[in-house]
Amino acid sequence: MSFRTRFAPSPTGPLHLGHAYSALTAHDMARAAGGQFFLRLDDIDQSRARPEWARLIEDDLAWLGIAWDAPVHRQSEHLDRYRAALDRLAARGLTYPCSCTRRDIEAAASAPQEGVPLFGPDGRIYPGTCRGRKMSEARPTDAIRLDLTRCPEMALDFTETGPAHAGRHVVTRDGLLTHVGDPVLARPNMAASYHLSIVIDDADQRITHVIRGEDLFEATRLQRALQHLLDLPTPLYHHHALIRDEAGKRLAKRDDARAIARYRDEGATPQDIRAMIGLAPAA
Ligand code: GLU
Repeated sequence: MSFRTRFAPSPTGPLHLGHAYSALTAHDMARAAGGQFFLRLDDIDQSRARPEWARLIEDDLAWLGIAWDAPVHRQSEHLDRYRAALDRLAARGLTYPCSCTRRDIEAAASAPQEGVPLFGPDGRIYPGTCRGRKMSEARPTDAIRLDLTRCPEMALDFTETGPAHAGRHVVTRDGLLTHVGDPVLARPNMAASYHLSIVIDDADQRITHVIRGEDLFEATRLQRALQHLLDLPTPLYHHHALIRDEAGKRLAKRDDARAIARYRDEGATPQDIRAMIGLAPAA
């Protein structure tokens, strides 16, 4: 079986040790399997993505010894693909426009029931306030959501090989309704949400193995459902452990202290970075 994987950072800040771990893990696994590795820039949110961050990311990855096997896939150049997918879901009556602000959603969900989660991988679980509105009533300021209640019942599986959740997982519509809620598929200033764009790209790039941080494990359920609704193939998943700081907190883009560029400036070598994040020296 071929092995095609990708690293998909958002160019909204410098790469830090956590990104290096993710990119090197995916890259090393692809090379060990005689497969291919791709770089995808998740630059769909044009209000936050910056070309200078994109340049630095490419530079840092090349410095780390990572080579990608095709030109960089920039999400901002594939908006028509995401739009077509959204249109297909809309044509099947599975979407609705939503005008709720964050505050509206908080207010509507303010009486939590015991055992019912408030947050899922798409943020605060949407209480369904705008469900039932017609797409023909959509205003330019509305977000577009997937109506899970109109999706067919499903029992979908995916296979995970990462350390924390290895095994086969099953996704059902009711499970998604409880743990994710109707997800946003597009926003006025964003042609497609992360979840929608990523399943299209994984299919378009014929990705066979999604290798990424454990923080995205729960998002896989929703992405699996979108693959099903859009007749897309399902890759294998491997969610790796996260690199944490001394206090046990996972690293974020704002942790500039751990930016690869900074270590480079201070004279570190790529092998030093590998050693710092517990990876064996490059072959
Ligand atoms: N841009 C996403 C992130 O950095 C990509 C996640 C993924 O690999 O699916 O979290």
